[in-house]
Amino acid sequence: MDRNEALFQAAKKVIPGGVNSPVRAFGSVGGVPRFIHKAKDACVWDEDGNQYIDYVCSWGPAIVGHAHPEVVDAVREAALGGLSFGAPTEGEVRIAEEIVKLMPSVEQLRLVSSGTEATMSAIRLARGYTGRDNIIKFEGCYHGHSDSLLVKAGSGLLTFGHPSSAGVPEDFTRHTLVLPYNDVAALTQTFAEQGDSIACVIVEPIAGNMNMVQASTEFVRALRSLTEAHGAVLIYDEVMTGFRVALGGAQALHGVTPDLTTMGKVIGGGMPMAAFGGRADIMACISPLGGVYQAGTLSGNPLAVAAGLKTLEIIQRPGFYETLTARTQELCKGLKAAAEELELPFSAQGVGGMFGFYFMNDLPHSFVDMQRNNTEHFKLFFHGMLRRGVAFAPSGFEASFMSAAHTSEHIADTLGTAADVFTEMVRG
Ligand SMILES: *Cc1c(COP(=O)(O)O)cnc(C)c1O
Repeated sequence: MDRNEALFQAAKKVIPGGVNSPVRAFGSVGGVPRFIHKAKDACVWDEDGNQYIDYVCSWGPAIVGHAHPEVVDAVREAALGGLSFGAPTEGEVRIAEEIVKLMPSVEQLRLVSSGTEATMSAIRLARGYTGRDNIIKFEGCYHGHSDSLLVKAGSGLLTFGHPSSAGVPEDFTRHTLVLPYNDVAALTQTFAEQGDSIACVIVEPIAGNMNMVQASTEFVRALRSLTEAHGAVLIYDEVMTGFRVALGGAQALHGVTPDLTTMGKVIGGGMPMAAFGGRADIMACISPLGGVYQAGTLSGNPLAVAAGLKTLEIIQRPGFYETLTARTQELCKGLKAAAEELELPFSAQGVGGMFGFYFMNDLPHSFVDMQRNNTEHFKLFFHGMLRRGVAFAPSGFEASFMSAAHTSEHIADTLGTAADVFTEMVRG
């Protein structure tokens, strides 16, 4: 038995399913998860010494590449000064200033330790600010695992959602409406019928948790105008897209100013950190200024802040997003061309350092569209690539990520490998 297998067996004895976050268990693709021993630049190494070109990038944070020497130095230096104080620090001020500068819709923000905390707090804030209870989310969007957001669509439109997890009382999801992504008519109808009861709409502006699905211009415009007309708070959940699809997030690409924005992943540079922020008049409702309670023992942790600040510095260097985008496009185009040559149904798209690929001929616009993704093809592709040293996320319903450490050679390697795997898939 190799070390990956042995560790998985040992892990399953003491950790449910052997993992600390479910998708890591390879449940939807089968097989043994690779236990990662170390990571550097564009690659990760498993416990058996196998090397992989990595397109998971820690699910997004590793945008400057793994173990970037400047980020590691910043964390090391911070650690020597103490791991946590539970008191305000200069670093927190500096990173907040930096985020406010880069995300124009964010006038004030608060740091937290996970994306789940950020979205949960933003929703509580929106409810506190509006004095309303109902919220709207979209099918296929993931906003962390707080109770009121673990909701799946009901059987018809305009019905309130049902819990998508055991342990979440129906009562807790009574106030969450679930609508189809990119469906302007459903959104318009919902606001027409119950707009005055809606505290907020939370949306992934480029969805990355049902593979990658882009919001249409009409959808984005409707989100902004309907929330504004009905006094509801528009929350852009940019935990994944923030600093990932562009320096100013998806909102910069959309030209939309949301009322609140949640961030995570990239802003922690690989350390546990996230944030929510937005209009100063809404943020003023948070304790200690206002009546909406929110707190965290490790919020603004000095090591996480150091990693985040250095990461935000690196991504502002000239040409950073141009190169990142070029690499992503190179890979997407190459994959499409290789599949086309074999007449394998396939499509792909990328924005900035985020991309999606699908074993179907067209691009998806909703969760329903995504159901046509050929999951058998995905499994074959995933394992074929992994065996040959290229790691993608272990599910056909996840986005993929590029880092600045991925070179043209890495892309060429990946494309050569993909051509082999596609051929194997087609010939059987
Ligand atoms: C990852 C993610 C979250 C949850 O963040 P965690 O740090 O895993 O709690 C929330 N929203 C979106 C859009 C995400 O991609």
